Amino acid sequence: MRALVYNGPKDVSVVDVPDARIEAPTDALVKITTTNICGSDLHMYEGRTDVEQGKVLGHENMGVVEEVGSGVTRLEKGDRVSLPFNIACGHCRNCMQGRTAFCLEVNPGSAGGAYGYADMGPYSGGQAEYLRVPFADFNALRLPGGTEHENDFTMLSDVFPTGWHGTRLAGLQPGESVVVMGAGPVGLMAALSARIQGADQVFVVDMQPDRLRLAEQVGATPVDFSKGSAQEQVMEATKGVGVDRGVEAVGWQAHDHSGEEHPAGTLDTLVEVVRATGGIGVVGVFPPADPNGPDPDMREGRMRFPFGTFFTKGQSMGTGQANVKAYNRQLRDLIINGRANPGFIVSHEMSLEEAASGYEHFDNREDGWTKVLLHP
Ligand SMILES: [Zn+2]
Ligand SMILES: [Zn+2]
Repeated sequence: MRALVYNGPKDVSVVDVPDARIEAPTDALVKITTTNICGSDLHMYEGRTDVEQGKVLGHENMGVVEEVGSGVTRLEKGDRVSLPFNIACGHCRNCMQGRTAFCLEVNPGSAGGAYGYADMGPYSGGQAEYLRVPFADFNALRLPGGTEHENDFTMLSDVFPTGWHGTRLAGLQPGESVVVMGAGPVGLMAALSARIQGADQVFVVDMQPDRLRLAEQVGATPVDFSKGSAQEQVMEATKGVGVDRGVEAVGWQAHDHSGEEHPAGTLDTLVEVVRATGGIGVVGVFPPADPNGPDPDMREGRMRFPFGTFFTKGQSMGTGQANVKAYNRQLRDLIINGRANPGFIVSHEMSLEEAASGYEHFDNREDGWTKVLLHP
């Protein structure tokens, strides 16, 4: 089958690889209809992880069941499904508590597995014609048949639940205000989620005009930090009070408007603008170490952020990847019932064969390249 593989920094290509197949009775084989390029794929693309050469990338996958193993009872050939980027066993301690991003079984020695990702287990990704889905009864979310809402449903595998999770980690309540750091797909999904949950005022901080325009489309107030400090702009807009909640949707490769990386830059802002006793949800990726990165602390996975102010203000912080299964069923139903349209962030749709150029344009943050979908 054809699949996109990692060759080395800034080098991916679509090549022939061995066919994905059923390897365990609990597996399903899914024919991919849509698979997205994610901002977190770019950490691997840029050579900032130890992902192995030849790995098939792609953790945001949906498609149609092609074949099921003998132990699969809930799915059958022809079912249209969304696959959470977390691969979870369904029966370990964390899975039993709904914390499927931290499954203890699928990636021994670590907590959490995913398709096509560095350090997340031996699983191939779905930027390919077919995908092997382990523990398929547990992991696959059934969707209505046909092709309706394809670009909305494809956000259920990662970015919509992840944005939603950011607001839940922050403890957002109806009527509260929230600032979202980053207007990439996850930040935009956090803004959308906050609006759906009844947030009063939603600020989105970025410096890319095309992305800030999308934030405005979901009713958020754009804050352009290339035009002055984000702290000052948010404090001024809230008459010096600050906001109730903050969501970090950038991760450790956050950079200032000159392009220099500041891993703690987004948390500096959030600790400043979130009011005393407010909450912060961190869903941007921060790795245990970044050995070849430019920041000396972050090379050891350490980060300098104003913990003293954080403590003095009595703020709380929740962190970690989204337990997609905790949200994706409900978010699917919001899409079906016309209450949510996460597909509004899609900027480009390409064939699998064009995937390498999709990575290049997206990685260059070219104007208008917000979210790239591949249709194998
Ligand atoms: Zn993703
Ligand atoms: Zn598990």
